[in-house]
Amino acid sequence: MKPIASLSLDLDNKWSYMKTHGDAGWDKYPTYLDLVVPRFLKVLHERDLKMTVFIVGQDAAREENFESLASISAAGHEIGNHSFNHEPWLHLYSEQELVRELAKTEEHLERVTGQCPIGFRGPGFSFCDLLLKTLIRRGYKYDCSTFPTYLGPLARMYYFMSTKLTAEQRAERKQLFGKFNEGFRPLKPFTWNFPEGQLTEIPVTTMPLFKVPIHASYILYLAQFSRFTAINYWRMALTMCRMMGVAPSLLLHPLDFMGCDDEKDLAFFPAMGRSAEPKVELVSEMLDMMSQHYDIRPLKDHAAAIAELHAKHDNPASGRASALRASR
Ligand SMILES: [Zn+2]
Repeated sequence: MKPIASLSLDLDNKWSYMKTHGDAGWDKYPTYLDLVVPRFLKVLHERDLKMTVFIVGQDAAREENFESLASISAAGHEIGNHSFNHEPWLHLYSEQELVRELAKTEEHLERVTGQCPIGFRGPGFSFCDLLLKTLIRRGYKYDCSTFPTYLGPLARMYYFMSTKLTAEQRAERKQLFGKFNEGFRPLKPFTWNFPEGQLTEIPVTTMPLFKVPIHASYILYLAQFSRFTAINYWRMALTMCRMMGVAPSLLLHPLDFMGCDDEKDLAFFPAMGRSAEPKVELVSEMLDMMSQHYDIRPLKDHAAAIAELHAKHDNPASGRASALRASR
């Protein structure tokens, strides 16, 4: 039997990239969901894979997206909550604002996809204790907003190289992709323990030991320089995960399935100078390589397996303590 690993996609829409990047026109909510959703559903269907798609509430509130969002759920994929406004500064929100952000998204997701989410990922990997506690109170089973890498500040610099943000906008985005010390967080799933209850955390997997990113957008970024190097980097990541006993949780994005032939406005995003076809082909190969060693599932299955495992061990230590141990 292969060990369980997980697959998810953050369904960031065109407007959310523009908004974070500080580009005018985002507030008209330009969308590419009709184009990209069938494309990634096809890749998964061909491999008989199911994943978790984290949807932004604002997209589920707009009628033009209803059909493509419903098709994700109809194809058997899990729906997760990716906030309502996709603002990567959730750590600056009040409790009331967090509740509103989650509740509004849940309401729209349930109406459009028929699923009430039990999993959350913060936009730009933003999260805080208050958010985790709020998730527990609302019955969520897992969170996957942690991104244990030392390279967050570098990714942020890359993203903002071409922007003209105001001082206030910069302050809001100060923690986009996380601070350097996010790299000290554990790579293996763990449990957050609060007086409010528990929550399983499934980190976005990075390279064991080195904590450099291994999500599809990063592999595609490397492939711009050398496809050979990129695919071997992914092979090395899978080998290291197996050696270190880390069940990988691979993260995908819509732009992994799109290219400059589809979208010209997002050229600032890594690998958006390439056409779609070789990108889709590379992501497909990544999934095939991962399937050779792992049973790829949506995050809810991965989280349930972890919760069961932790219950068996009946670890009385707090999430923070066990998280610390796991990181050593
Ligand atoms: Zn996002």
